[in-house]
Amino acid sequence: MTTTPFEALQLAESLHRVLRELDYNEPSPIQALAIPLLLQGRDLLGCAQTGTGKTASFALPILHALSKSPGRNRPRSCRTLVLAPTRELAIQVGKSFSTYGKYVSFRQTLIYGGVGQVPQINAMRGGVDVLVATPGRLLDLIDQGHVDLSQVEFFVLDEVDRMLDMGFLRDVKRIVAMLPVKRQSLFFSATLAPNIVDLAQSILRNPAHVSIAPETTTAEKIAQQVCFVDRDSKRPLLEQLLRGQDAAKEQKLTIVFSRTKHGANKLAKSLCVAGFQADAIHGNKSQAQREKALDRFKKGLTPVLVATDVAARGVDVKDVGLVVNFDLPNEPEAYVHRIGRTARAGAEGRAVSFCSEDELEYLRDIEKIIRMPIPRWDSHEWHVAALAERHLRGSQNRSAPSGQQQRGQQRGNGGNRRR
Ligand code: AMP
Repeated sequence: MTTTPFEALQLAESLHRVLRELDYNEPSPIQALAIPLLLQGRDLLGCAQTGTGKTASFALPILHALSKSPGRNRPRSCRTLVLAPTRELAIQVGKSFSTYGKYVSFRQTLIYGGVGQVPQINAMRGGVDVLVATPGRLLDLIDQGHVDLSQVEFFVLDEVDRMLDMGFLRDVKRIVAMLPVKRQSLFFSATLAPNIVDLAQSILRNPAHVSIAPETTTAEKIAQQVCFVDRDSKRPLLEQLLRGQDAAKEQKLTIVFSRTKHGANKLAKSLCVAGFQADAIHGNKSQAQREKALDRFKKGLTPVLVATDVAARGVDVKDVGLVVNFDLPNEPEAYVHRIGRTARAGAEGRAVSFCSEDELEYLRDIEKIIRMPIPRWDSHEWHVAALAERHLRGSQNRSAPSGQQQRGQQRGNGGNRRR
């Protein structure tokens, strides 16, 4: 019998069984690189964004270790701690552990804010093998004596770039200071700006580096387009775009990104009025409302979801065929995160970005970090040729320095925030 590429990784049979059931035929690049290193007990610095299969790249080796050395859990303790920036991502990671660990006997719980803490305290009482948590609520429960980090064997920091963007640096440092020195640490970030590298160095011990470059994960699989439009034309253009998807009978789910919560609400309402099944998720909605909206989206009952960046974090929905940037993000890295919602794990995807006059600068920043011009789509009736021309001229002026120089500058100003 021939072995599959996954079987060559020599994970526990209980994991291979589930991988066969999930029809995962071969490891994604990050899995192929990271899993053997993690099985050897190495610390890892992984540069990869969502959609690359990074969750399995850490969940599988951790579940493998847990299945090989089932231990008794001490009260309030955890053997694995995964820190995630948002509750959506925490829930997603928790689901992945449950899925991949279907045939492994292990206990897991989630700790995140926005919901009552009593069930979380109760779940921690007997100790767990895997705890997935957001930093703020975790510290609350630690300070109240409900969680003890002294038994952590595996520590995962997921989406560190987001974590720092959201102001969690101090919380993360406080949490790290409570971990035992002897542990295996894994650190994942979509970008490696200098402050992120500094943090990694303070947490990891002789780490292996694994990098899945954004170029291969975004540019190649996702058909990207930019439309130059007046702000007022964005709505009719979106409606036309959504109708086009319908007409193509693609039955694909669409996520529309809005920069503000208010904008997301307004847009979802106007889409409903125009006859689309749409809903909005953003930080002002309760956890229950967000989960319900996501569930209906996943089932295709409301195939158009209008979201803000934070709300869409960790949303892992197969079959998202189209991502629309109704507003361009003012942080260029967010573009990569947003379009990573489509074309997940080998599927084909399309990302269409609307750019109005006030957003030209954002577009230039985005094209700088993805290191390619986004092809323009100008055959629609609202195309503003003058804007496209201005963008082209701006890009040409900026491309005066050599490519090497530009890349150096890019690294230097990894933060590049404008708020
Ligand atoms: P992630 O980057 O961890 O958010 O994973 C993105 C998606 O890829 C998830 O829907 C996973 O279920 C899926 N996935 C992860 N690894 C594989 C694999 N080796 N083969 C097929 N799908 C995968």
